[in-house]
Formats: sequence, structure tokens, C-alpha cells
Amino acid sequence: MDLRKLIERLAAENALKYGKANPKAVMGKVMAEMPELRSRVREVLALVNQVVEEINRMPEDRLRELAGPEKREKKKEERKWPPLDKAEPGKVVTRVAPEPNGYPTIGHAKGLLVPFIYARLYNGKFLLRFEDTNPRVERLEYFDAIREDFSALLEAAERELGLSPGRWDQEVIESYYLPKMYELAEQLIRQGDAYVCTCPAEKVRSYRKEGKECEHRDQPVEKNLELWEKMLEGEFKEGEAHLRLKTDMRHPNYTMRDPGIFRIVDAPHPIHGDRYRVYPTYDFSISVMDSLTGVTHAFRSKEFEPHVEVQRTILRKLGLREYEMIQFGRITMEGIPISKRYIRPLIKAGILDGWSDPRVPTLKGLFRRGITPEALVRFFYELGPSKVDATINFESLAAMNRKVLDPVAPRYMFVPDPVKAVVEGLEVLKAEVPVHPDREDRRVIELTEPSVYIALKDAKSLREGQEVRLRGLATVKVRHVGPDEVSLRVSEEQRISGIQIIQWAPYGNATPVRVMNPTSPYSYEMLGGYGEPAMRELRKGDMVQLLRIGFARVDSEEPLTLILSHR
Ligand SMILES: [Zn+2]
Repeated sequence: MDLRKLIERLAAENALKYGKANPKAVMGKVMAEMPELRSRVREVLALVNQVVEEINRMPEDRLRELAGPEKREKKKEERKWPPLDKAEPGKVVTRVAPEPNGYPTIGHAKGLLVPFIYARLYNGKFLLRFEDTNPRVERLEYFDAIREDFSALLEAAERELGLSPGRWDQEVIESYYLPKMYELAEQLIRQGDAYVCTCPAEKVRSYRKEGKECEHRDQPVEKNLELWEKMLEGEFKEGEAHLRLKTDMRHPNYTMRDPGIFRIVDAPHPIHGDRYRVYPTYDFSISVMDSLTGVTHAFRSKEFEPHVEVQRTILRKLGLREYEMIQFGRITMEGIPISKRYIRPLIKAGILDGWSDPRVPTLKGLFRRGITPEALVRFFYELGPSKVDATINFESLAAMNRKVLDPVAPRYMFVPDPVKAVVEGLEVLKAEVPVHPDREDRRVIELTEPSVYIALKDAKSLREGQEVRLRGLATVKVRHVGPDEVSLRVSEEQRISGIQIIQWAPYGNATPVRVMNPTSPYSYEMLGGYGEPAMRELRKGDMVQLLRIGFARVDSEEPLTLILSHR
């Protein structure tokens, strides 16, 4: 009775998803939920066939009654997105503010998605702002990588979460605001709230530590204006002069002790070349830019917490609009370096194949490995805007990706380390395999002769007299296992339950395939072998499931190379 109920539920769910329940798909799900039934396959299958027939005649509302509750899980997710303080629907403005100093990593995905999700939940506006005021490490190439990868994630957020439109509403490039920022700096100087300090960095550091004031602190406004002009005109070298905010050199919050707000950077800017040489520090630019661009809720990573006071002070002294500042925890990845600081030297040393190497957690690397933007979006949506730092492991990301890929990825047979197996007694040189267990359509595999390739690992495990099933082709009995050839014979009894099913490729008509399996951030193994003939039609970017091996993404077509995503 319980079994019947289970089958009804699974069949109803299958019918709701695909319009019609498929007995094989339902059977697979029954076996997955109750593996102990494997010894009663025939009996269960008969019941499944019977129930599926009934289900396929039922109206949709009856199916919904029978299908399991699916809403419960969603509510749990929503609870993780608490309301924003002082947020009015339609008036919320959030932003993501990446620095174009490298390729975005999985750490940026949270920084992108949290403010984006809030902007859309409140029907507000979402800005992409490039913080390009540290020109020495910035490149145009990185601007493009950020645009590309962020677009992929936001488009996926629209598809997966229905947050529309799945893009930023406006792009802001901070460096275009430099003239405006210089005006504000001058305002601070005229108010007596900033001064040009020409102390060497060492002295500044020790004075801040000791709470001592340097001789520049009490310079008259005219002197500061004159030195500031000199800074802008290039009369100082890098490091020779700073504009500092005048606050309190004995402030208990160390970052508040007359922090630098502008410094000289003697390096060409990727957009403006040599036009500017004085650039704001992080505290100045972030507070001023958020205020000037209308941001109402600024999300930033928790490590900048001590800087909030500095930023609020800057805004107050300038009389600029204040806004909500919200901290959130950072993301690190277990066992994999995530910071550009660690990745860059590995690329330079040639250990990694650039920023899109599938072993590194840059967004490009993850996408290339077949971690879909959809999976990342779902993952961060479920994680919520948490304030605590989180260490995620690749396995949990893979589990999410599996949920995305399993219902859609077509199945293929790939045989690593192939060994020839001759099949005696094969009457029809043709096999039919389902494209996907939940779908009706099937793929035909033509054999040119009664021989197939099987994996060396499978060949080694075979014993004489053992029966195995060559998936979609025939049940065979092992006659002989030789060092480079296996001899099989078609069994008289074809429907034997509980035997091992192995994948194969037709001898003489198989597609050469290579599969790269990333094993650590520093290494991978390359599996060589043969796949089904239909694998020839795969195109770069396609996602498939290689049966008994795992999900994989097509990385190149000629030669056909796939990257193994995960099991
Ligand atoms: Zn000084």
C-alpha cells in the first residue's frame, strides 16, 4: 500500500513536469528511494506500469493533490532574506563595486548577487560601479571580464529566481568622477578639514601609532591649497605627498587618526592614460561615490567595518547625503586559493592556464568547468545575505550544479582506456539508448561489426561466466578476458535483474574523446578513450552526463575535449 502511494506521488510529479509520466523514469525514482526493492524489480515494474497508466488519464488538479508538497522548501529560503532597514519599495538603490584588477572569482558572486537580489526584491535600481582608482594594477581586460561574468550571473538570476531585469540598470566608472572628487578635496582643505602632509610613510605610520601630530597638520589653508595644486600638477613624486583628513590623532579607532584621502600614483590609467596622477583612497572614493550616485543601501564586506567611521566622517564634513551601510561575510573556498594574490603567481609561473583555468574558482574557471551560472545563483540565494564569513566546499557547489544539470543534461557513453570486446551472437548491429532517463526520445547507435569498446577498468573486473549488460545493446556472458581483447557472448536470457550495466562504444565507429579531470588546484588527469558516434555533434559549451563518470562540459571540438565537472 505504501509502495503504491510512493509510485503515485512520483508518477504525478513526473507527469506534472513533462506532461506525461514515463514508466522508466518513475521506476528509476522508485529504485532510488527504495533500493531494497531491487530484488522485486518485475513486481514493482508491473505496479509502476499500472499506476502510470492511471496517472496519465488523470486531470491536472488531481495530479497536484497526489504530488508532494514543493512549497515548503521555498519558504525556508525566503526567510534568509530579511527586510532591509529603511527601505522603501521603488526607492532602493544598491550597487556592486568591483575593482578591475583581475578576473572576478566566486567571492565576487556574493558581492554581486546580494545587492542585486535586494534591488529587485524592492523594485529598486542596481548599479555596476568600477572602482578604477588604483591604476597600477588595473587593466581594460578586467573591466570586460567583470562585465561578461556578472552578466552571465544576472541573466541566470532572472531565469532561476525570476528577478527581472537580469542586468544592472546603470554602469558607473569611478575615474570619470575624479574632477568632481578634486573639487570635494579642495572644499575639505578650505574648511580646514584636510591638509597636505609631506612626511615619509614611515613617519606617518609611527606618528599614527603614537598619536603624535606632524608639523603639516597646522599649516594655513593657503599653504595646503598651494601644495595640493602641486600634487595635481606633478611636482611631487609618488609617496612624497598625501592629502590627509584632519580628525583626531589620538582617536581610539586607529583608522580615524588623520587617514590619507588622496595619494599620488605614477602609473598610466587604463582609460585615461597619464591624465591624472592623484587618486582617492578607498575610504574617500567609496563614501563619496555611493553618496553621489544615489546609493541608499551599500553592501560591503565585513573586513572594512573599522572604516565605516572614517567614511561617515568624510560625508558629514562634505555635507553629502548619508546612506545605509550593510556588512556581509566573505566567502572562501575550502582547499582552493580564491584570492587574486594567490592565483596571479600561479598563472605567472605557468602552473595555471590563465584566469579561466578550470581548476581555479574564478567565475570563468568555474563556468569553463561546467559549474553553471544557474547553480551559483541558486547557491548564493539559499546562502542568503549572511553576515558571517562562510567557507564553501566544491562539493556543495557540485551538489547544487547536479540539481540544475540532472534534469536536462543528455546522457552519453564514454569509455576511458578502451579495450576491444568481441560480442558473439549479436544479431542486430544497432542499439537504442534513451537520451535522458526522463525523456521519451532515444538515440540509435549503429555498429559496423559485432565488437565494442569497454573500459579497461570494467574489463579487469570481469570474470569468466559472469553476466553483464552492455547498456541498450544486450545482456552478455563473459567467455574470456585476454590482455588486449575480451570475448563476450549474447546471453540466452536477456532480462536478468540485478546485473551490472556497463557503458560501451561501437568498435570502428566510435568518437575519440579526451576528458580532463581536475584533481586539485594544481593538477589534473587526462582520460583518453572513445565515445558514442553522436558525441561528434557536441559543440563547445554543451553540458552532458557521461554515464558512470560524471557531468562534463565540452571545452573544445577538435579534438573533442571535455572537462569533468563533478560526479
Ligand atoms: Zn606630515
